[in-house]
Amino acid sequence: YTGKTGSELLSDQLKKLKVREHHSVPVVVNDKVSVYDAITTMFLEDVGTLFVVNESSLLVGVLSRKDLLRASMGNQDLSDIPVHIIMTRVPKIKICHKEDLLLDAANKLIENQIDALPVVIDREDGQEVVGRLTKTNVTKAFVDLVRDENV
Ligand code: ADP
Repeated sequence: YTGKTGSELLSDQLKKLKVREHHSVPVVVNDKVSVYDAITTMFLEDVGTLFVVNESSLLVGVLSRKDLLRASMGNQDLSDIPVHIIMTRVPKIKICHKEDLLLDAANKLIENQIDALPVVIDREDGQEVVGRLTKTNVTKAFVDLVRDENV
């Protein structure tokens, strides 16, 4: 018997969870595509956040639902506006790595009031997007933790 309190045991369990086991597949668009095409991709892929990559598949931006809604409020033709005009860009983008604690990634989501983080691998010339960590991933991990305990 460890003599640990319930909340110590819970936090021990939480600190075992890594981004690696809980992230989703990333949905990416090229920085040359139009806002119209990004909206289409967001609907077809059924995600709330798109990651924008350059020719070398390196992360250059993030597009949220509100970014695309905001761009749609003017009278411009959305097929004529490239996403790189409206996206949130590097270096403002908050990222995580597969080996990070899920708890640390969750903290980044809360502190920055965002819905998703790109999971990246660091390259010499930038960051390659290999996953998408969302608030839903964190919620699911939380629910699974209790379910596993009842097995
Ligand atoms: P929504 O716009 O649907 O509320 P978010 O809360 O995720 O979605 O996005 C809010 C703002 O933060 C948007 O302008 C978006 O581009 C930006 N954003 C989203 N994810 C990130 C991220 N990982 N790093 C930096 N900025 C982000």
